[in-house]
Amino acid sequence: MTVIPIERAERAAPSRRPVLEARGLTKHFPVRRGARQAVVHAVEDVTLTLPDGGITAVVGESGSGKSTLARMLAQLIKPTAGSVLLDGEAAPARKRYARQVQLVLQDPFSSLNPVHSVRYHLARPLQIHGVNGARKGPGNGPGNRQSLDSLVTDLLTRVSLTPAEQFAAKYPHELSGGQRQRVAIARALAVQPRILLADEPVSMLDVSIRLGVLNLLADLREREGLTILYVTHDIASARYLADVIAVMYAGQVIESGPAARVTDEPAHPYTQLLLSAAPDPDRAQPPSLAGRGAPPNLIRPPTGCRFHPRCPHAMQVCAQDRPPAAEVALGHSSACWLHAQGLTPAQSRPLLGADPNTDRKPGPDAGPGPVPGEEKR
Ligand code: SF4
Repeated sequence: MTVIPIERAERAAPSRRPVLEARGLTKHFPVRRGARQAVVHAVEDVTLTLPDGGITAVVGESGSGKSTLARMLAQLIKPTAGSVLLDGEAAPARKRYARQVQLVLQDPFSSLNPVHSVRYHLARPLQIHGVNGARKGPGNGPGNRQSLDSLVTDLLTRVSLTPAEQFAAKYPHELSGGQRQRVAIARALAVQPRILLADEPVSMLDVSIRLGVLNLLADLREREGLTILYVTHDIASARYLADVIAVMYAGQVIESGPAARVTDEPAHPYTQLLLSAAPDPDRAQPPSLAGRGAPPNLIRPPTGCRFHPRCPHAMQVCAQDRPPAAEVALGHSSACWLHAQGLTPAQSRPLLGADPNTDRKPGPDAGPGPVPGEEKR
């Protein structure tokens, strides 16, 4: 792992009060395959807790269901099963919920309307939700305009877009990618939410400006006590920013725990694979290729452990039964039969014909499958 300030990554928040919870969230998207109806098992029985004032990262490759999970938490799509709890109670109706939980989308180039100014983008949620008396319609007179302008200026200052008056007058095409994402974050902050769901907020940005946006999220947590869900495919940035990491594979959470522990001592073979793929200038040897291959087809997900067609340690039981989450250390759990049975990788008996040191050939269940709602990169 590289370029990681340990002190930030080690700030775990296990004792903080949960503010947002996903309980057994499941999303199946119906799709057509020729004349037949099929179902994409995008998210399966995910339970996740966001502690108050904490940053929780959901990490996984494309198609793992992490963006679908974020959209369910934002109430943009309805779960097939399971529930979302806010402060331990059923989530309120959409508009009241949106005052507390806001989503920042991945692509700042398409999430802002090119024909409207920055001021318009920030004033609109203020007016719709009546923040600090800002209202749509006839009340939007000179006095109201002045207060709206000061609210917009305040929002731009909070995301470090200064001089705010100049940025307020700009249009999206006049901004860099990083500045657009800051506007998108400011728009989410307009309704004074307690929880920010950031869906791959830096993956569309140049590497050179990603750090600035990540630091902005960290500052918002520090200064304003925001609770943040950070969705990413980049486990190194998750460690940089988050207290807790939950790793998703094929729609399921397969490992979770304090960020430093999950990245320093990954327990699940898939997390180990993810980490081996992260660039590391200190690594002398090229990463092992064991476990590489394609994600599974989520129309017909593999039975048992969904990682078993790619896992170098897969045993017979892995192909038959879904592994339970087993605690491997305090607050650190892994859904793997190795841990459920107290085995080490060396003690596993790989499936007949499997070579743990090489790539497996994708079986009939393997192969990339589309997941509606997941961005393509
Ligand atoms: Fe899944 Fe089995 Fe591999 Fe664990 S050992 S990741 S349960 S296939």
